[in-house]
Amino acid sequence: MDVLATLTANRNRIEERIAAACARAGRPRSSVTLVAVTKSVGAEIAALLPELGLADLGESRPQVLWTKAAAISAVVRWHMIGHLQRNKVERTLPLVHLIHSIDSWRLLESIDAEAQRLALTASVLLEVNVSREPNKSGLSPDELFRSIQRIRELRATQVGGLMTMAAIAPDPELCRPTFAELRQLRDRLKTEIGPPHSLEHLSMGMSDDFEVAIDEGATLIRVGSALFEGVS
Ligand SMILES: *Cc1c(COP(=O)(O)O)cnc(C)c1O
Repeated sequence: MDVLATLTANRNRIEERIAAACARAGRPRSSVTLVAVTKSVGAEIAALLPELGLADLGESRPQVLWTKAAAISAVVRWHMIGHLQRNKVERTLPLVHLIHSIDSWRLLESIDAEAQRLALTASVLLEVNVSREPNKSGLSPDELFRSIQRIRELRATQVGGLMTMAAIAPDPELCRPTFAELRQLRDRLKTEIGPPHSLEHLSMGMSDDFEVAIDEGATLIRVGSALFEGVS
C-alpha cells in the first residue's frame, strides 16, 4: 500500500475511535480536536496530512517544528507540545497556534514578554505533572495554585487550559485518574481566574488512551503512533 492509502486507513480508524468515544461520553465530535503528532515522520509525509483533513499538527521539538513549518505550504495550525527552551521562544511564537507545554513560570513570562514585543496574543496551555513523577516536566498542582497571581499579571497571553502526559500504563483505564484530576484542576483554576483566560481546553490522551481522555473531557488529543503505523 502506498503512504497516502496507509495514512487514510489509519486516519479513518482513529476517526471511528474518536466518534465512538464521543458517542459514549455524550459529546459532539466537534468538541474534540485531533492533533496529529508528526515527530516520527519527515516533512514530506507531514505535508500529506492537510489533504486528509488533518490541519492541526503537533511537534515536540522546536527546531523540527521550524523546519516542517517552513517546508509545508498548506495552511496548518502548529501545536508546540514538547519542552520549549526560553531562547527558542522568539522564533517559535510567530509560527504556532497553541503552545501546550508551559512547564515553568519563567517560560510563561518569556512568552508574555515576546508576545508584547510582537504585538500579538500568545495562546498557551499550562502543563501539569498530575502524576507527580519526579523526572517529568510540568508544574505540580501545588505550584499551579500557589502562583496564580502570575497568571493574572500576564499582558499578552491567553491561558486556554491545561495539558498533561499520563504515566505509561499497560491498561488505558489506569490513566483515568490522571485525566480526571486534570479536569478538576482546570475547573478549579477557571473558577479562581476567569476571563480573559478561557481555560476551556484539556489537552490529554495519546494513541493508546485517547478514548479514556475523551470520556474525561479532553478537547485536544495528541496522536502520533496510531496515525503513522505502517508509514514510519
Ligand atoms: C509523542 C507525543 C505524543 C503522541 O504519542 P503517541 O503515543 O505516539 O500517540 C503526544 N504528546 C506528546 C507530548 C508527545 O511527545
